[in-house]
Amino acid sequence: MSGPATVIPLPQSVLLPVDGLSERFPVRRVYCVGRNYADHAIEMGHDPSREPPFFFQKNADNLLPPGREFPYPPLSSDVHFEVECVVALKSGGQDIAIENTLDCVYGYAVGVDFTRRDLQAEAKKLGRPWEVAKAFEYSAPVSAIVPASLLGHPAAGRIWLELNGKRLQDGDLNQMIWKVPEIIAELSKLFILAPGDVIMTGTPAGVGAVRRGDHINCGIDGVAQLSINVA
Ligand code: MN
Repeated sequence: MSGPATVIPLPQSVLLPVDGLSERFPVRRVYCVGRNYADHAIEMGHDPSREPPFFFQKNADNLLPPGREFPYPPLSSDVHFEVECVVALKSGGQDIAIENTLDCVYGYAVGVDFTRRDLQAEAKKLGRPWEVAKAFEYSAPVSAIVPASLLGHPAAGRIWLELNGKRLQDGDLNQMIWKVPEIIAELSKLFILAPGDVIMTGTPAGVGAVRRGDHINCGIDGVAQLSINVA
């Protein structure tokens, strides 16, 4: 493949492994859903019956492929884990009808939305954007993607996270306020979705802080597992 000459080297595409295949999944954008499980919204001090979920973004190159250590980020002393179901799109569009949304899904993975909670709290207080809290380097470890052609489209299943062997998050995909079809339909009202887009669908209750040397094991039963060392 050859394109026009570039004045600096082309940035590398972010490629995620796909379960059972040598071909990789190229990432375009990373969308995230905030407060998509009622019990987590409540633990963060919000009322899910009055405040619907919402979106924010990370950068594609914030994704950390499986098998690599999560380097504890600078300028924070309160980095929290949030285990999430990750949806990878093979097609997209604008104003996608809800009955067509699952046709856009290539597959699913489990991931962690690491958050510099102290910087997020400051941003919330000052009415500032969340990027410094959410879109930092390596802030989204993710497992290999499991194709929906093998898996189907899981609407239920235990989603859990263990820190140093202790289970701290234990929810079910069926607790999502916005289900995956609604998330895709809502996002496609705001953005033009495209192949390679990845969506982190929010976290159940039980989030907490990590320290250097910690070990995380997390998963979605019947979908994927991921283990992460905090370096
Ligand atoms: Mn999250």
